[in-house]
Amino acid sequence: MSDIEQLVAQATAEFAGIDDAAALEQSKARYLGKSGSVTELLKNLGKLEPEQRKRAGAAINSAKERIEAALNGRREAIRLVALEGQLEAEALDVTLPGRGLPTGGLHPVTRTLERIEALFRSIGFDVADGPEIEDDFHNFTALNTPENHPARSMHDTFYLLDAPGLLLRTHTSPIQVRFMETHKPPIRVIAPGRVYRVDSDATHSPMFHQVEGLWIDEDVSFADLKGVFTDFLRNFFEKPDLRTRFRPSFFPFTEPSAEIDMSCVFCDGNGCRVCSHTGWLEIAGSGMVHPNVLKAVGIDSERYIGFAFGMGPDRLTMLRYGVNDLRLFFDGDLRFLSQFK
Ligand SMILES: [Zn+2]
Repeated sequence: MSDIEQLVAQATAEFAGIDDAAALEQSKARYLGKSGSVTELLKNLGKLEPEQRKRAGAAINSAKERIEAALNGRREAIRLVALEGQLEAEALDVTLPGRGLPTGGLHPVTRTLERIEALFRSIGFDVADGPEIEDDFHNFTALNTPENHPARSMHDTFYLLDAPGLLLRTHTSPIQVRFMETHKPPIRVIAPGRVYRVDSDATHSPMFHQVEGLWIDEDVSFADLKGVFTDFLRNFFEKPDLRTRFRPSFFPFTEPSAEIDMSCVFCDGNGCRVCSHTGWLEIAGSGMVHPNVLKAVGIDSERYIGFAFGMGPDRLTMLRYGVNDLRLFFDGDLRFLSQFK
């Protein structure tokens, strides 16, 4: 076997024994690189006689081509092995169930607020908003609540220590005050929002929600209050036979004032544990707007009259979904909240 043929056999055997792409390239350099064996042979061609040079050149080129072919064959083989390995390593089990993206949902109290807003909008009420940090005038004074009223004590109201005269609103009535300051009668508005009081147990939270309503016009009567509110409760609880009753009460900002009870939505008024076997559930406070409240916001109390009511959407939510602890709404426990999705 000539030297050249031996070189081809040696290179082919060497390539075949290599499994690594980098090592293969190093091996290639020994034959085809700048100072590789084949390159050296080509360099020496110049020293030969023309006739010899022609034959030797053809032989060397043939050898070079075969070495390159062997090299490329080996390169491809190594690439395929690497690809196989990669495919195996990155294999996906397409039969595994997906992880899924958890979807959120509206908080049950938010659902109630949206429901209340939709029902009142459908009978022509606006929905108003206002600041949760209020001043003394809008939260108390304008609502006919005198200086010495117990609601103004530190025991019941969160005052801002560094801002005298400012407090966390104790009801959403100041929204109505602000609305009356900027709108002329007729006024039909509800005021939903968060309110704050120093109170915490199974049925009280220091932060809770309220929705108040107000209708001011020239001839709004107590009968309108009964009609509007009873109709609202029947729609909210989807109970066309729901009944209401109004009991005399006292609020500084209404005169006369009344507590509103509704027939128990669990026993339809027959008496059960929820309604303490009375058949009735206390659901809202209400009354005809006190003339002093209208005067405080510059509305002519001789010409205009109206009613107001206030209710707790948290309690409405508890009754609608049968929840027995108010604190569940504000603990942020997804096991509870996800049931309302
Ligand atoms: Zn009942």
